[in-house]
Amino acid sequence: MRVDKQGMLIVLSGPSGSGKGTIVSRLLKEHDDMVLSISATTRAPRAGEIDGVHYYFLTREQFTQMRGDNQFLEWAEYNGQYYGTPEAPIRDWLAAGKNVILEIEVQGAERVMDCRADLISIFITIPSMEELRRRLIGRGSETEESIRARMGVAKRELQRAFRYDYVVINDEVDLAVERINTIVEAETMRYGRMEQCIMEVLDNAETQ
Ligand code: 5GP
Repeated sequence: MRVDKQGMLIVLSGPSGSGKGTIVSRLLKEHDDMVLSISATTRAPRAGEIDGVHYYFLTREQFTQMRGDNQFLEWAEYNGQYYGTPEAPIRDWLAAGKNVILEIEVQGAERVMDCRADLISIFITIPSMEELRRRLIGRGSETEESIRARMGVAKRELQRAFRYDYVVINDEVDLAVERINTIVEAETMRYGRMEQCIMEVLDNAETQ
């Protein structure tokens, strides 16, 4: 029985501190048919970040050139830096049957929603603003001012959650990963992806 072998494009967004990075790592470990899109950015690498693994670290000129050449599926400015999703690898992965994850902020996610009807969009949220504050303090690397700024951004991002297909609460990582697995599994059974299978059953029915 044939089902659609084209992979699915999945966007995960959520406020800084929502734990989306941890969730993505877990998903990639659990599913060898899932890949994470590597973004390009103009921000400087943080300690331990490797060019071509965590991001493609570009100069503003290089980024602007790629943008001018229409090489990005989407791009956005965040915190004074550019971030963009290179389109070519995504096309190849989807054709190879891989499910591709975009871990990007809300403006970029909305741009992809506007141009890709096949996109599955998931918003990862924290259970409350107090919990977000607790997590940001727990990182130990944020000043009171940057915590306040990140909470302001988080509030604005939460106000865009209505644009997404699904909302997943990350109260516990195991549960959040399980919820995303449920979404992905259900999405594989959408009519569009199962049409071939129905057609085959109908074709065979004619010989019965
Ligand atoms: P960071 O600088 O902390 O790695 O990322 C800052 C924000 O940019 C995060 O919300 C991250 O998900 C988002 N981001 C990373 N890559 C992209 C991208 O290619 N496009 C967009 N629109 N956002 C991105």
